[in-house]
Amino acid sequence: MDYKKLNELVNKVAQSLKVLLAEDNVFLRKKTCSLLTKNGFHVIEAKNGKEAWEKFKENYDEIGVVVLDWVMPEMDGLEVCRLIRSTNIGHYTYIIFLSGVEDREKIAKCLEVGADDYIMKPIHQKEFLARIKAGLRIIALEKLLMEANEKLERLATIDELTGVFNRRALFNELKKSAHFAIRAKKKLYIVMIDIDHFKKINDTYGHQVGDLVLKELAQRLRSELRPYDIIGRYGGEEFLVAFVNKQEREAAEIGERLRQAVKTNPFQIDEELFITVTISAGIGIFDPAQCNIEGTISEEDLMQELSKVIERADKALYEAKVKGRDRIIMSKI
Ligand code: GH3
Ligand code: MG
Ligand code: MG
Ligand code: MG
Repeated sequence: MDYKKLNELVNKVAQSLKVLLAEDNVFLRKKTCSLLTKNGFHVIEAKNGKEAWEKFKENYDEIGVVVLDWVMPEMDGLEVCRLIRSTNIGHYTYIIFLSGVEDREKIAKCLEVGADDYIMKPIHQKEFLARIKAGLRIIALEKLLMEANEKLERLATIDELTGVFNRRALFNELKKSAHFAIRAKKKLYIVMIDIDHFKKINDTYGHQVGDLVLKELAQRLRSELRPYDIIGRYGGEEFLVAFVNKQEREAAEIGERLRQAVKTNPFQIDEELFITVTISAGIGIFDPAQCNIEGTISEEDLMQELSKVIERADKALYEAKVKGRDRIIMSKI
């Protein structure tokens, strides 16, 4: 870990997050608050534990560090800490306790219920600020970790070249849609799309141009669909589109729209090169009413049903190719 970079992130986090300060002694609270504010922190004040908990619930999204006095009326710091730790808010909150007496048993208790740090009163300004910063370091590290996870998640589900779902994610999404179709008693349509004479594009203009065609094709298909429709790369130059909640006629129209969106305007590769691309497609239908599904279905059986639908879509696609390409064929159920 690059410590300098981490510190830069800590400063950013300090700007974007707030410190919740719960202290019942007005004088101490105001003094601590002004110390924090002077050093660039944004502070939310609470005059007792109950108010701290209320303010936490209202503002948890923007709170990074919580400073809790131990002894407070209405609700003590320990209870606030317990409540904070019992909530699942999607990010870490760093909790620091303040206390006037040095009692090792008490310190242990604090840490056990979820405190991260413990500071003795009277507050030593430099130490206090440094400990707040240390807390923000943990928050910043968590932020980095979450960003790395999101990136990994993206890499694991998105096809790098085209930006649509990869094959693995595609099947997960299809399963989700099939579950929805079963519950809603609707049909799920699976459209298998294959570029016509794609080999010729590769052979004539090179593999790189072929890649650009794949990329643009995915974009064109995506832009014809609703955000919750599924599109993924099934294989090399084969894409799969899926959607629920349509009549057969409407599904055929969507297929037709996809075909037109590819064919109508040639793909512009560079200033001089324009390539006309056509696709063929087969549509398979998953109709829960036709496959004796009552209530729940095992993952295995569902996968089997989906495979059958994909097979039917594939057969219809083959038929479209044989009949002269640049067309969409709807399979029978
Ligand atoms: P058809 O109309 O029958 O579909 O003819 P076709 O030439 O498209 O035939 P086919 O579907 O068998 O050809 C697939 C070609 O797609 C072969 C392969 O080299 C190419 N291909 C597969 N993946 C990629 C890729 O990621 N990039 C590029 N540029 N080409 C790919
Ligand atoms: Mg107190
Ligand atoms: Mg193919
Ligand atoms: Mg092809």
